Amino acid sequence: MVQIKTPEQIAKMREAGLVVAAIHAATREAAVPGATTKDLDEVARKVIADHGAKSNFLGYGGFPATICTSVNEVVVHGIPSDDVVLKDGDVISVDCGAIVDGWHGDAAYTAFVGSGHAPELIELSRVTEESMWAGIAAMRNGNRLMDISKAIESYIRRQPRPATGEHSLGKFGIIEDYGGHGIGTEMHMDPHLLNYVSRKRGKGPKLVPGFCLAIEPMVSLGTPRTEVLEDDWTVITTDGTWSSHWEHSVALTEEGPLVLTAPDGGRAKLAELGVTAAPDPLA
Ligand code: MG
Ligand code: MG
Repeated sequence: MVQIKTPEQIAKMREAGLVVAAIHAATREAAVPGATTKDLDEVARKVIADHGAKSNFLGYGGFPATICTSVNEVVVHGIPSDDVVLKDGDVISVDCGAIVDGWHGDAAYTAFVGSGHAPELIELSRVTEESMWAGIAAMRNGNRLMDISKAIESYIRRQPRPATGEHSLGKFGIIEDYGGHGIGTEMHMDPHLLNYVSRKRGKGPKLVPGFCLAIEPMVSLGTPRTEVLEDDWTVITTDGTWSSHWEHSVALTEEGPLVLTAPDGGRAKLAELGVTAAPDPLA
């Protein structure tokens, strides 16, 4: 069952989304050479507390932290640690969420630590982020769930392959084992959103006002395949190529999509794509 939200409930989710945006801003600033991923977790913990919100990551299935910090070949679900010291040239994906009055937000970004990153890594993050926005732009009334999957996949497939370098097999891999999801009174709800088109899944449910989704492509510079390390959390690419993860929580309203976890509700980026974002209920 897909949980359909009222405009008042979407306004609550917007509050949670803005807390997530604040965690993003603060952890981005803290992701510098010499910082540990545990330091970033502390930053996130403080932002959540300062907003009087709750963490939906801490304790989720026993997860021991408030954010996931996934460095280089780690795709998702990396556990913050005192032992992981960020260094110049690293690529980190930070995934986090927050709960306000029982309503959840969830979003992720990829950032470059220090400087001097290979062009293929910069392109990897750009392609992953843009594919997320292509998916968000497809979140339109009357579309089907699979239209979002199709928009994400076809954006990635249209990109020229990066030159083969230190981190690359000369292609993009769309990670298959993880995808987006419904979000609302829980972080992970129906439906599951694939980042590629599957004939077996059909077109999926029709998108209607009140539909809320976390849209989150994960892309590697090589394989679409992953494995989970012995800590039962850390997900890495099977070929060791580096990866990127971008995510926003998005609500569909009568007036179009509202990007709950973007400070401007997605207005600027969606305008570039010819889509009008819904008005911000908190503005
Ligand atoms: Mg997430
Ligand atoms: Mg998610």
